[in-house]
Amino acid sequence: MAYQTINPTTNELVKTYPNHTEADIEAALAAAHALYKSSWAQGPVKGRVQVLERLAELIDARAEELAKICVQEMGKLISDARDEVWIIAEIARLYAREAEGFLAPIEIESGLGDAWIEHHPLGVMMVVEPWNFPYYQLMRVFAPNFAAGNPVVSKHASIVPHCASVFEELVNEAGAPKGAWANLFITSGQVSDIIADDRIVGAAMTGSEGAGTAIATQAAKHLKKSTLEMGGNDVFVVLEDADLDKALDAGVFSRLHISGQECICAKRFVLHEDIAEEFLARFTEAMASVKIGDPMDEDTKLGPLSSADASAGLAQQVERAVAAGATLHLGGKAMDRPGNFFEPTILTNIKRENPAYFEEFFGPVAQMYVVKTDDEIVELANDSKFGLAGAVFSKNIERAKALASRIETGAIWINTFASTAPELPFGGVKRSGYGRELSQLGIKEFVNQKLVLVSNAA
Ligand code: NAP
Repeated sequence: MAYQTINPTTNELVKTYPNHTEADIEAALAAAHALYKSSWAQGPVKGRVQVLERLAELIDARAEELAKICVQEMGKLISDARDEVWIIAEIARLYAREAEGFLAPIEIESGLGDAWIEHHPLGVMMVVEPWNFPYYQLMRVFAPNFAAGNPVVSKHASIVPHCASVFEELVNEAGAPKGAWANLFITSGQVSDIIADDRIVGAAMTGSEGAGTAIATQAAKHLKKSTLEMGGNDVFVVLEDADLDKALDAGVFSRLHISGQECICAKRFVLHEDIAEEFLARFTEAMASVKIGDPMDEDTKLGPLSSADASAGLAQQVERAVAAGATLHLGGKAMDRPGNFFEPTILTNIKRENPAYFEEFFGPVAQMYVVKTDDEIVELANDSKFGLAGAVFSKNIERAKALASRIETGAIWINTFASTAPELPFGGVKRSGYGRELSQLGIKEFVNQKLVLVSNAA
């Protein structure tokens, strides 16, 4: 696939980037491996993390420019792009500040003697990332690996090459040593060959199930660890005692955030029967009247989908859902205007036999379900192949906490949604993947947790 910037607001081709050659790949792997063998990787954490501080400063200094590049490549709202740029600097700062503590030795009580766990880098990582958070996804894998001493070879999504290039430029400008991060414009087949290379020790991937399966299979074949961050069909539960205004605002925002192309946003609305009618009426009104337009316009609330393919795929998915018995309550198709705009859409009456019941809709399409009891909520929430995240809205925090504990996902939010921060772990269960990114859990995914024991035997 060609690496191209195509503005999703107009579908105008802005620039095509040439693919890297086999020689470029070899040079990247050689530099990364040499760096891993050097005192940079094998030395103390403190010697590495200053670069992350500097990187955060550079990002802050170029924040508006970075945000605009992101809007032009994948169409998110300028305000969301600014938020993304802000959080990547915060991730760099978190690991700059905390990595030494996260990776400090941990003592273990043992009858056999003095025992502790040390944390050492593993080697060169292959990462494959998606376009929906084109900087955040890269920083999630760069900052912890850099702090831990693992050089990284990266393949970004082919529709965000400008974001990929500028991220690499920033890393280099911050003073990262040669080999610490390489952006490669390469094919899936080349990713597979790189994973097989003896110099690679692990693979981290965020994206679809198909790509995740391909990468995890190749990693397993070569006995290498992988982490996968896949999709989800997150529930957004509204109980009868919820603050309805708050739940409505959050629900509409969450379903339309990044034009509905966020892995952890509200996808299945699960409404208690006592408030279902009112919630649906007000939700429909809000979705129908949302301001759609140019993502660079500060007043716009819904921009385009990331590509023409994404829009066509979503339209077909909605058609299939309706053909299988769902009711199209609102919207349902691509808009008749330039760019990849899609109508805010609501589906009701989705039965378990409908393929839509188990699918992720990666766009502004809400599914509505009505339930009577907390047990029903848990049953519906867990009747899913995915297990990424979810939200529960209720004034009864104890009841919400009890529900949160019973829902099978990597995260649950109570009276908010999709709240992510550098210090909070991120990841799913079931077909949403395995492993965690961000926080102290993320940095430990690809380190050698080495036991050292000094015997107390005489
Ligand atoms: P995708 O098609 O899987 O693309 C993601 C990345 O994988 C891209 O760099 C893509 O490259 C690459 N890729 C695709 N097939 C590959 C293969 N066989 N081998 C190696 N690389 C391959 O995913 P998407 O549809 O663009 O992204 C949306 C999905 O990602 C959604 O399901 C979403 O929920 C999920 N997601 C999850 C998280 C999370 O943290 N859990 C975060 C964001 C998104 P090309 O662009 O060149 O095809």
